[in-house]
Amino acid sequence: MTAAPILPGVARVLTDLPDGTTLTADVVVVGTGAGGGAVAGELARGGLDVVMVEAGGPLGSTRPGAHIRNAFPAESQLETRYGPEVWSSLVPFAGGTERFGDMRGALAIHSVGGMLSYWSHMCPSPDPDTEAEPAISRSALQELLPRALRLLWANLDIEASGARQQRVMDAVRKPFGDLPAGREVQQLPVAMQRTASGEIEFAGLDALLTPDGCDSATTVRIVAGYPVREIDPGPSSGAGATVTAASASGSRVVRVQAAVVVLAAGALGTPQLLHASGIRPQALGRYLTDHTQMVSRVKLRDDLLEGTPEDDPTFSVWIPASSSRAMHTQISRGWITSSPVLGGLPSWQTADIGQFTGVDPNPENRVSFDSDHVDGFGLPRVSVEFTLSQADRDRAAAMFADHYRVAETIADFRYALEASAMPAGTSLHLMGTHRMGSRDDGTSVADSVGRVWGYDNLYVAGNGLISTRNAGNPTTNTVALGLRTADAILGRATP
Ligand SMILES: Cc1cc2nc3c(=O)[nH]c(=O)nc-3n(C[C@H](O)[C@H](O)[C@H](O)COP(=O)(O)OP(=O)(O)OC[C@H]3O[C@@H](n4cnc5c(N)ncnc54)[C@H](O)[C@@H]3O)c2cc1C
Repeated sequence: MTAAPILPGVARVLTDLPDGTTLTADVVVVGTGAGGGAVAGELARGGLDVVMVEAGGPLGSTRPGAHIRNAFPAESQLETRYGPEVWSSLVPFAGGTERFGDMRGALAIHSVGGMLSYWSHMCPSPDPDTEAEPAISRSALQELLPRALRLLWANLDIEASGARQQRVMDAVRKPFGDLPAGREVQQLPVAMQRTASGEIEFAGLDALLTPDGCDSATTVRIVAGYPVREIDPGPSSGAGATVTAASASGSRVVRVQAAVVVLAAGALGTPQLLHASGIRPQALGRYLTDHTQMVSRVKLRDDLLEGTPEDDPTFSVWIPASSSRAMHTQISRGWITSSPVLGGLPSWQTADIGQFTGVDPNPENRVSFDSDHVDGFGLPRVSVEFTLSQADRDRAAAMFADHYRVAETIADFRYALEASAMPAGTSLHLMGTHRMGSRDDGTSVADSVGRVWGYDNLYVAGNGLISTRNAGNPTTNTVALGLRTADAILGRATP
């Protein structure tokens, strides 16, 4: 057995466990992305013994669970180091060799930290009027979202003083000045912090597992490189549940026994595991939603760049989704590889405009499972059926027109506006496949704390729990919902 520290005293990664190993814990969490990390960290801070099981292995390039960008944090490395590393790590789900026909952009990351080791750190919160979960009270969400943002190190200070930050935000505010209170053009929080030695550090799984000023946090154990093949919730009291995982070759089997199971294996992996374990609520895998996405790179106008100091921090400007705009807009320095037209420019002179708009939850948009063929995890192979309705297309068309308006506020049109409409799934924001609801009426898989209908000790977490049409990057929301799930398991009030 190999044990590598993730954070000394906070989490340990266990690999190469001997065949037949059985671990016991209070709670077993399957999957180490944002959903699993949020639940596991909060439970550990609440004093529970938690084992996480992850299909992927620990990352070699950096401390397991830390964000890969910490190895190359400079703005000048965004396109040269960070972007290529992200592209090479995105793989078809569960070791498949083909992309989904209806969702060619849907890819996965299988490693300790899941997508949270690679994400772009943007932390928008959902619009309380149009995007909040109907099953949760507004006041409860208003308490959960700041907790999630704090855990994710969501930060405004580092970029606030930047020359480009201020000028780009002022330029965008002019034509987009008339927006609902709280959803005006503003700085977008970014999941990063400055360390005691002055370096910038980006949040990954490590941020979610930190003790966060709590003395009682126990050490989370992470079993890595073992896809879970089956869960048996068993009786709801005592260590009655069993999670069975097998090494990639299938030659070594590991079991974890616990009182409570939390499935957080991603929007594809969680319904797949429930299905494989014979737990098949009517809504399982259905209501798959996504964000239709459009991105472009522009050269910033000269007046926005004039006198920009060499150490200017990066910038993140946000036009939030709201009742008057069913789309999310972010303007930042991204990691897309330089384009042929703009590629000759120093990349700090450019900005990436990213826009998402929502897809209505529709039971016909779904993940299905082929029990006759297994994938690289030894589980029924996943396929996706997904089409946009006319209303979804109308929103996408409005976003295309809006994209040009946003570009006009900041772009030097002597250079190209290189815009791409991305294939479905490219947002990497798949949602809804194990959605929450307020009633067990066949349209949801779990209740408002993520507990699977009909089970006392089986919970689901991650983007798949989100039930709404929404437009913003989902991780802050997913972490907030994960904290609520942990609160419920810890017996705290969940209004
Ligand atoms: C390049 C990139 C940029 C992004 N940028 C942003 C951003 O700026 N803002 C934002 O909000 N979001 C962003 N995201 C999305 C964000 O990372 C996800 O929303 C979030 O991490 C999803 O968390 P999750 O827990 O639902 O799923 P995942 O992160 O996919 O975690 C699921 C984990 O479960 C594991 N698993 C699957 N099946 C099994 C099994 N059978 N047994 C054991 N383990 C299993 C997987 O290997 C994976 O590690 C980005 C993602 C990427 C990749």
